[in-house]
Amino acid sequence: MGLSALQIFKYLPAAKKAENTNCKKCGCQTCMAYAMKLSKAQTEISLCPFISEELKNLLEYSVKQPQKTIEFNGLKIGGENVLYRHEKTFINKTAFAVLIDTENPDWEEKLHRIENFEIKRVNELMKVDLVIFKGNSIPDTKINHITYDEFINSEIKVIRDENFTDTSKELIDLRTNAVNTKDEKYSSPVCVFFNSKNNEDICAKAAFYICKYANMLLFEEFDEALFSTLMTLRQNIFTDPQKPLQVESKIYEFNNPDENSLIFMTTNFALTFFAVANELESLPVPSYLIVTPADGMSVLTAWSAEKFTAKMVAKTLKKWDFASRVKNHKIIIPGLLAHMKGELEEEIKDFEIVVGTIDAYAISDFVKNLPKA
Ligand code: SF4
Repeated sequence: MGLSALQIFKYLPAAKKAENTNCKKCGCQTCMAYAMKLSKAQTEISLCPFISEELKNLLEYSVKQPQKTIEFNGLKIGGENVLYRHEKTFINKTAFAVLIDTENPDWEEKLHRIENFEIKRVNELMKVDLVIFKGNSIPDTKINHITYDEFINSEIKVIRDENFTDTSKELIDLRTNAVNTKDEKYSSPVCVFFNSKNNEDICAKAAFYICKYANMLLFEEFDEALFSTLMTLRQNIFTDPQKPLQVESKIYEFNNPDENSLIFMTTNFALTFFAVANELESLPVPSYLIVTPADGMSVLTAWSAEKFTAKMVAKTLKKWDFASRVKNHKIIIPGLLAHMKGELEEEIKDFEIVVGTIDAYAISDFVKNLPKA
């Protein structure tokens, strides 16, 4: 992580009340302004003639990356800066690769299964990230692939997983040293290569290695259930906590709605959206779901941050010209926003507001008990 403006300022003449204080030779009005620009990499260190060697070294160290990023056909591996996701964020998720030896009799069947494998979780489509081909022939495939020679000649460090204790210790030592010392000898991304063919064993160990600190996992066998499990875990570990998962703000349709169908509303927080969408999909009646933009916040958080306001709802409806598309003019809002009923009705003259359920699972019963139109 780079130095903050205040950390830089401490070393400049103004902080030391030295004679060149705020001399403007760097093009900035004050030393503080220069420190602020330097912290954002918007100016050059060479522009101030009074920068000490100590500050130069500190700046150089602060921008040095603890771990290199390598790429296999656009698949980025490594480049991590931290030990814990809450310190900043993790950069590149642990890549999942499968080794295919084209000298083995079942390799085509294995490749076929890999090509056809995909899972979708919280709007993210996940596939096997990389296939590494060993053997004389490299087949024509759309799946991202490299040769075994390219793999072993890359800058990735490979740990053969002989036992959990040794592998986990090595992974933790490598990352800790990389982050704490930024020493070149710890800077290679790390791949764990599983020797075991026991899926339960691999699953337990891989779960740990994804958390701490494998940049890539290489499997000799491909098992759909194992990959689905590990990909779901990986998605949770590598979601940036500072960027809530969100879906597109628009009007979603379930089971071919018409002008008389039910209308629900929520925010674009992905977890809320999918909870509600699953319920609406399984309703025996068609419906619309109006998803308002709220920076991916859940309904109550969005309301308290003023991201879910009556004006915002009115704007969304206007954007999609929704009032002219439907005859049913009742919008069911989340139960958590019951206190907004009056405010919403004041702002959205074309629609009546109905307070719905607090939890998505209760939507089905709520709909059953709605008065017939
Ligand atoms: Fe301060 Fe800029 Fe002068 Fe350096 S060149 S002493 S940062 S005003």
